[in-house]
Amino acid sequence: AAPMTFTAVNPATGKAVASYEETSPAAVRQAVEQAHEASLQWRRRDIAERAKSMRTAGRLLRERSNRYGRLMAEEMGKPIKQGVAEAQKCADGCDFFAENAASFLAPEIIDTGAAKSFVTFQPLGVILAIMPWNFPFWQVFRFAAPALMAGNAGVMKHSSNVPGCALAIEEVFREAGFPEHLFRTLLIGSGSVDDLIANPLVRAVTLTGSGPAGRAVARKAGEMLKKTVLELGGSDAYLVLDDADVSFAAKASAEGRLVNSGQSCIAAKRFIVVDSLHSSFEDAFVEEMRAAKMGDPLSEDTTVGPLARHDLREALHRQVETSLAKGARCLLGGKIPDGPGAFYPPTVLTDVRPGMPAYDEEMFGPVAAIIPVGDEKTAIDVANDSAFGLGGGIFTRDIDRGERLAVEAVEAGSVFVNRTVQSHPKLPFGGVKESGYGRELSHYGIKEFVNIKTVVVS
Ligand code: NAP
Repeated sequence: AAPMTFTAVNPATGKAVASYEETSPAAVRQAVEQAHEASLQWRRRDIAERAKSMRTAGRLLRERSNRYGRLMAEEMGKPIKQGVAEAQKCADGCDFFAENAASFLAPEIIDTGAAKSFVTFQPLGVILAIMPWNFPFWQVFRFAAPALMAGNAGVMKHSSNVPGCALAIEEVFREAGFPEHLFRTLLIGSGSVDDLIANPLVRAVTLTGSGPAGRAVARKAGEMLKKTVLELGGSDAYLVLDDADVSFAAKASAEGRLVNSGQSCIAAKRFIVVDSLHSSFEDAFVEEMRAAKMGDPLSEDTTVGPLARHDLREALHRQVETSLAKGARCLLGGKIPDGPGAFYPPTVLTDVRPGMPAYDEEMFGPVAAIIPVGDEKTAIDVANDSAFGLGGGIFTRDIDRGERLAVEAVEAGSVFVNRTVQSHPKLPFGGVKESGYGRELSHYGIKEFVNIKTVVVS
């Protein structure tokens, strides 16, 4: 068959940006072998040496943040300010793991009565990363910075719509002085992933993306008995309790819903509001959502860009229309604007109930679903009445109450009280239920792709 090409299309204009040729199956096999060879020298390198390269990667990301921000804007529509900030956050991630990998991976001496017994953390080898377009740099560095610091190699299959970002990331590692071939970008379609998972030199797989992709990859990895980490979808609930500061909650909610033009796994998606605050929250929230500035992602004051692809906009709009047909009410937006580009306006739906896509499914765009409830108990039940369990928010003036519900009641990998959900290198990140399993970031993340090896000496 003729080689496929990957064409990046600017979602703000609908025009092609650039085309790249698919990596051939033979070149894929060679890249895996070369990554494996590179990992054999890399794993012997002192961790302080590895840290030097990782700090250089951070420096390059910082120096090039404008260029990479622009690339993200062109390939997937991220507003330029957010793209520049994303490149800088990647640099911070590189620095964090350069700084902390040695202590995270220090051997643990354990007294068992033997002369010596300890736990050591050894690299696994080549890790396959399958990555999404929404944070095209951060998702990759969140995996790669700890995995490489631990002594592994990486091969990456990125989303088909961000080939330029995928190659730029390979360039960062190459130019930062990592061994050649230690981190490779493969331009391949999802149909080629099974063969890669089956390659004996690929030792484990990480995927950030949708549930269907996670299931497909976990199925094959299960067949091959290879470990997976899965960071999948989410439909984070923000609970606005009876003693919440409404205007603060509305502001934080809009910020949480509109992050990355609504296309974030940990975006706030469902707003569960007790009846006593229902109308005041609706009014304040609609005003916050209305104030967002949708437009050209290359313009500095844009806060909401286009969705990343036209087909994603069609799918989102169908979810909105079906929810409305089933009785939801639209308070803002909900209409596809005229003109070029995959723009979708900030939208607020209310009276959302079970059976509507806005209640049951992930809405991957700037569409908020308000679900009215009678009391705290129902709020918790509704928050947990979801296939997902990634993040969640609680708004209350009673900090103890917020903390207690965060710990005991909300089924999610992270819960933030009176704050929007965000990832931080020092804190573990991941989900429960259909949001996936395993953790990234922090010392938990770096230990996902290591052999936790027990050594006992007489
Ligand atoms: P996606 O369609 O699942 O794509 C993610 C990656 O998986 C892409 O590289 C894609 O390649 C690949 N892929 C798709 N189907 C596959 C299959 N059957 N076998 C192997 N690989 C496959 O997701 P997306 O639309 O890019 O991203 C949006 C989703 O990701 C949302 O559900 C979002 O919540 C989730 N997400 C989760 C997190 C998290 O940390 N939990 C973070 C960001 C996003 P192609 O592009 O070639 O199809």
